[in-house]
Amino acid sequence: MTVIGNDAALRDAADPLAHLRDRFHPTPGDAVYLNGGSLGRLPTATAGIVDHVVRAEWGDGLAGARTTWFDMCERMGDRVAEVALGAHPGEVVVGDCTSVNLYKLAAAVLDADPGRRAIVTDDDNFPTDQYVLAGVAAERGGTLRRLHTDPDRGLDLDLLREAVDDDVALVSLSLVSCRSGALFDIAEVQEIAHAAGALVLWDLSHAAGAVPVDLAANGADLAVGSTYKHLFAGPGAPAFLYVRRDLHTVLAQPIHGWYGHREQLAMRGDYEADPTIRRFLTGSPPILSAVAIEAGLAVIAEAGLEALRAKSVALTGYLQELLEPTGLRLASPVDPARRGAHVTYGHPRSAQLVPLLAENGVFVDYSVPDRLRLTPAPLSTRFADVATAAERIRGVLERSGL
Ligand SMILES: *Cc1c(COP(=O)(O)O)cnc(C)c1O
Repeated sequence: MTVIGNDAALRDAADPLAHLRDRFHPTPGDAVYLNGGSLGRLPTATAGIVDHVVRAEWGDGLAGARTTWFDMCERMGDRVAEVALGAHPGEVVVGDCTSVNLYKLAAAVLDADPGRRAIVTDDDNFPTDQYVLAGVAAERGGTLRRLHTDPDRGLDLDLLREAVDDDVALVSLSLVSCRSGALFDIAEVQEIAHAAGALVLWDLSHAAGAVPVDLAANGADLAVGSTYKHLFAGPGAPAFLYVRRDLHTVLAQPIHGWYGHREQLAMRGDYEADPTIRRFLTGSPPILSAVAIEAGLAVIAEAGLEALRAKSVALTGYLQELLEPTGLRLASPVDPARRGAHVTYGHPRSAQLVPLLAENGVFVDYSVPDRLRLTPAPLSTRFADVATAAERIRGVLERSGL
């Protein structure tokens, strides 16, 4: 065994989460999957859960089974809150996609205070966030202030301090940057916004299931996020939405539907918003995808977020160490503790490298214009996998002359 192989084997032998790898469907052949930031791997329990709902509940139960589904958004929301978000019961629901959830909450905030018309975000935020926030602001005669962010290191908080004044209703940022992986301190950002009387709406798409978030402990206002990345819920699974309890009746979202009505089944003609977190729902959730959220959460709960995070920091640090000699340019914060579960590299020929790496059994994500995003998901990736990936990346760079 090589020195690196031996070192990786020692790290795997000491890994308290090593056994959880078997809770995921195996990758094909000897592939190393480092793209969990785009789509999390399939938990082995998912097929059984979905099969039960399809055959026993839908197939045998037919419309009668609907009563077991009516509170699905809240039940799954509470599970996400407990396992991944550190939020209280009754503060999270799942339903709709992240973009729509972001729209609902951003609109609700602007509508709650006609005296404040500005939203602040950063120009490296995920595109859908920038589009949605710009749209919400424009619809309401407001403006979106997009702060320039260093795409490798993340937003300078001094710029945020300068930008948040008494016209700002909302600051909306991604807790973990989708590109660089830069990780904000929730409490620090909230403090800056609150000092100017603004609320904060977090996009947790790359944070939920990747880093401990502790929304309640940090007094977070609002959040949305994806369930199909670090929560393993599967393609198209509904996103989550969090609203701190004291804001439930202060905020009213603009898309009125029967799921948000205080008496959903009374079938009244006039809309009256539910006083609880349900008021942020609109219509029927995708039940088959929503039930699948449970499978990934169970594995995360078994690992514990602190242990998961410790392994993630060790894995990306190790990957960084092994890639150092390749000459790839680090495009993430240097300290693994200052970023989420992925690490990003810049290479002028990234667009060509990504398919070449896939041919050589390493799956990574390409991000415009010249980035490779590597996400060694801590529950399913061994240190040996990271060593293998680094070795293959080195080989491809050498052989291809890229
Ligand atoms: C993946 C992701 C989304 C996904 O949005 P959908 O509307 O659910 O497709 C949104 N924001 C961020 C930051 C993401 O990473």
